[in-house]
Amino acid sequence: MTDRKAELAANLAQVEERIASACAAAGRKREEVTLIVVTKTYPASDVRILHQLGVRHVAENRDQDAAPKATACADLSLTWHFVGQLQTNKVRSVTGYADVVQSVDRAKLVTALSAAAVRGERELGCLIQVALDAESGERGERGGVAPDGVEELAAAVDAAPGLRLDGLMTVAPLAGEYAGRQRAAFDRLMEISSGLRTGHPAANMVSAGMSGDLEDAVAAGATHVRVGTAVLGVRPRLG
Ligand SMILES: *Cc1c(COP(=O)(O)O)cnc(C)c1O
Repeated sequence: MTDRKAELAANLAQVEERIASACAAAGRKREEVTLIVVTKTYPASDVRILHQLGVRHVAENRDQDAAPKATACADLSLTWHFVGQLQTNKVRSVTGYADVVQSVDRAKLVTALSAAAVRGERELGCLIQVALDAESGERGERGGVAPDGVEELAAAVDAAPGLRLDGLMTVAPLAGEYAGRQRAAFDRLMEISSGLRTGHPAANMVSAGMSGDLEDAVAAGATHVRVGTAVLGVRPRLG
């Protein structure tokens, strides 16, 4: 085993242990939570090692980095999640490799994703990104739609050819009433998810929790956690 493979294996084992403990503490089955490893800023060689170690879901947040990486790993069976703020001029590229876009937060993006999915003859999974610190009608600083805009956007995704409404995503807010209160933030996301599922029962994916707060997300009921640093190490540059 190379040094890097041993390092990633050890980190993965630790993260696995954290997820398993959090599931046990919450009375949930381990299979209810999927680990997505956020590989942003790390090379394709790391993605390859992660695949050898059993990882099947990876996430990226910048198309410039993600597109060549996905191409370099096209032979691996991986589900690629796009989790960054997405400009409409990048949509065509992202649709070329992403299986799920977790950061859908405005109607214009829905239209663009739908057009690209149809043109590429693919079905694209979509999560509505919820900004728990955004005011009504506004978007969050790190993307995301205000909670009261979720339903309208979900309906738009649901009606759009080529798109599949999978559920919700959030990043615990740094400001506002949920700042520093991850568990409360994720509980609120679950509440919004329950509301969404009354009209869209299949949209049951809840993506929440990162390296620092995955336990809170699992306790609240998240189905997917997005972990970068705890698996790959502290990022060499801002990502
Ligand atoms: C970078 C990133 C993560 C992972 O964060 P870590 O703290 O490194 O685990 C999760 N979600 C999103 C949207 C990200 O951009």
